[in-house]
Amino acid sequence: MTVPAWYDTFTDAIAAGEPQCLACAACGDASLPPRQVCPACGSTELTAEPLSGRGTILSFTEISVTTPKFHGETPYTVVMSELDEGVVLSGQLREATAADVAIGEPVVLDTETRADGPALITFRPADAEATDTGDRDDA
Ligand SMILES: [Zn+2]
Repeated sequence: MTVPAWYDTFTDAIAAGEPQCLACAACGDASLPPRQVCPACGSTELTAEPLSGRGTILSFTEISVTTPKFHGETPYTVVMSELDEGVVLSGQLREATAADVAIGEPVVLDTETRADGPALITFRPADAEATDTGDRDDA
């Protein structure tokens, strides 16, 4: 499978522990590549900025019927996560199953190298000791 160059750049940065989003100089909105224009205000002043790699689960589902590429790996769970910067990204859940997670729980962004194609975007539950104590920074 061929993927566009931006995808490899994006997943390579995650794998290196330096995930990035696009930040709008005009309105401050964060978005994910590839993008030429801010989805919030239309500005073209987008710059790469660090992502924390931490987010919370917005939604998740267990996949039992999949494409041939993932035959033999079902069931697996896909989570949709809102990262701390406000961008939303989906990926396969690792180190846990759908029975182990709930909406609103913290997850960490990662990638998984595959022999059969491009890296997968993945999430894993955040370490229990690293979760917040209920104090939300809503700034
Ligand atoms: Zn903007």
